Amino acid sequence: MRIGYGWDSHEFQAGVPLKIGGVEIPFYKGLAGHSDGDVLLHAITDALLGAVAAGDIGSYFPPTDPKWKGADSVIFLEEALKQVRLAGYTVSNVDSTLILAEPKIIPHAKKIQARVAELLGVQPNQVSVTSVLRVSKVLALVSCAALLLT
Ligand SMILES: [Zn+2]
Repeated sequence: MRIGYGWDSHEFQAGVPLKIGGVEIPFYKGLAGHSDGDVLLHAITDALLGAVAAGDIGSYFPPTDPKWKGADSVIFLEEALKQVRLAGYTVSNVDSTLILAEPKIIPHAKKIQARVAELLGVQPNQVSVTSVLRVSKVLALVSCAALLLT
């Protein structure tokens, strides 16, 4: 059994789509980033990589590489899953907390949970997505833990 921990934050930016957990959420601003800014998928990616001590998201997809400009973060998650499988593990569960002032995540939580589960190849009851409405309106933060089983 292995446990990984991931953390990420992105600043809000007007005029870009808001993507959280591979789901586009209707909102007047999105998250800035070199890729599509999907803060949840980035934290899960780092938690999975961390669980198998396989580096972090930046070691596979350097933000300095123009190749990843505007990239769909699903690509990052798929690489992490590949590393998990190469190390001989499977995902048992993922627990994540979004920390942001707006928008409200609760109306979208089920959809995000289902999409993340689909991406991870697990059941929705193996994925927890909760949120706390805190901090400023400038940042979206995520903390995430992933448990892997042999
Ligand atoms: Zn990120």
